[in-house]
Amino acid sequence: MGNCSGVASGHSQPDHSNATHSGLPPHQRNNGISVLPPDSNPSRPPPPPKPALSSVVGRVLGRPMEDVRSTYIFGRELGRGQFGVTYLVTHKVTKEQFACKSIAARKLINRDDLEDICREVQIMHHLTGHRNIVELKGAYEDRHSVNLIMELCAGGELFDRIIAKGHYSERAAAYLCRQIVTVVHDCHTMGVIHRDLKPENFLFLCKEESSPLKATDFGLSVFFKPGDAFKDLVGSAYYVAPEVLRRSYGPEVDIWSAGVILYILLCGVPPFWAENEQDIFNSILRGHIDFASDPWPSISSSAKDLIKKMLQANPKERFSAVEVLNHPWMREDGDASDKPLDIAVLSRMKQFQAMNKLKKVALKVIAENLSQEEIIGLKEMFKSMDTDNSGTITYDELKAGLHKLGSKLSESEIRQLMEAADVDGNGAIDYIEFISATMHMNRMEREDHLYKAFEYFDKDKSGYITKEELESALRKYNMGDEKTLKEIIAEVDSDNDGKINYDEFVAMMRKGNPDFVNRRR
Ligand code: ADP
Ligand code: MG
Repeated sequence: MGNCSGVASGHSQPDHSNATHSGLPPHQRNNGISVLPPDSNPSRPPPPPKPALSSVVGRVLGRPMEDVRSTYIFGRELGRGQFGVTYLVTHKVTKEQFACKSIAARKLINRDDLEDICREVQIMHHLTGHRNIVELKGAYEDRHSVNLIMELCAGGELFDRIIAKGHYSERAAAYLCRQIVTVVHDCHTMGVIHRDLKPENFLFLCKEESSPLKATDFGLSVFFKPGDAFKDLVGSAYYVAPEVLRRSYGPEVDIWSAGVILYILLCGVPPFWAENEQDIFNSILRGHIDFASDPWPSISSSAKDLIKKMLQANPKERFSAVEVLNHPWMREDGDASDKPLDIAVLSRMKQFQAMNKLKKVALKVIAENLSQEEIIGLKEMFKSMDTDNSGTITYDELKAGLHKLGSKLSESEIRQLMEAADVDGNGAIDYIEFISATMHMNRMEREDHLYKAFEYFDKDKSGYITKEELESALRKYNMGDEKTLKEIIAEVDSDNDGKINYDEFVAMMRKGNPDFVNRRR
């Protein structure tokens, strides 16, 4: 569940929500209202035996408690957000599968937290039945958790499909964006502002290419009436509208976020980005949209026209959902072309090229540890480039592959990319080298990946990567001359003790990596 950190206010009443809370996200605040059950105080005498579950009324949903596990069998974890974990569950009798978002009761500390969950349930019930909104099947509360049973979206997050697919034609982007804006339209006509639209909160119902896209996570959504002005600073950094930062806003914020998603669908990077949250906000307030860099010159003016109307700084002048849906580029069979766009592989390889060597080797270690499903899209790309099925991509194959995907790079530029990706310098790119050079940075965001990579270098488990350890790793990958070694240490070792500790390692991996900033909180 996203919220702008540091300055979050969880109140969701329009206009009179002027009390800004301490710098904590809504679910970590404690405003002094104790809603803990009376038996949570360890100094009290032991409580009397607990009454039967069904005779206790839940403090969140306000109805008799019921154990979700008596109806559903819990399976693997599907994902987690700020304070909920979503599991695959199977109905004991019908064997039908669902997703269950489980929120630990102990994390719901104050009245705002309870109201947030309660509202999430109400809003999902209210919106259920719309084609592009995840359906809520039921809500259960027991002593330990609140559980929301939803239809299962087995097709994964929009974000991951963008990564796996690597590129979209304008037509494919228009098709996805139409569903996103349909969600906005449905929410707004039903009196709801979503407030947290971003690619991670859109899921595909199934794996098929034609799968409908569904909005989830109404944890930050609110009911509104025309004319209401909200003040809460909530949302996720990249997607937040300027009037949210100015703390007076209405439903138009959702169109802004959808405009940001559309921009990303077309070029792969957010329109407003910087290394830290404050600079992202400054960039949003400045409102300059870059249409000069690649691939924008080759994108239709109709697409750019629509983006400008969705990212219009003045919410009063911003397009409404209906206007967006009627725009010539967005309309079904509109003028969006199906020519493939500049490819993500290319831009990621360029990014990779600029990285220091330690980071490249670390990415290789991470790539070796990814699961099959995490790299399925890139594996397909690798296979399509490796035309002789040799397991490596040669210069000629890379050139032909990039050309097929529509790139117009010169021979020498391709040669440079090849050299950058060929970490071990054997003249061809092997599978793992290809994955590390082209994987999306959000893959390495995961702390366990970073830690594994660090451990790989820190052979003696001292908590430091020493000069010797670095040297042997670089030698193994054929890039260990004395000069490189010195450069790396100088660049990464910010406390100048001649070795690299875990914090320095993490900072290096995060440096200059736009996807890394506040993607999930
Ligand atoms: P939070 O409010 O904590 O962010 P979300 O509702 O966004 O929680 O769910 C967290 C993650 O769980 C999602 O990003 C997604 O990967 C997974 N998930 C949520 N709902 C479903 C669903 N209906 N089907 C499949 N996976 C889901
Ligand atoms: Mg979420």
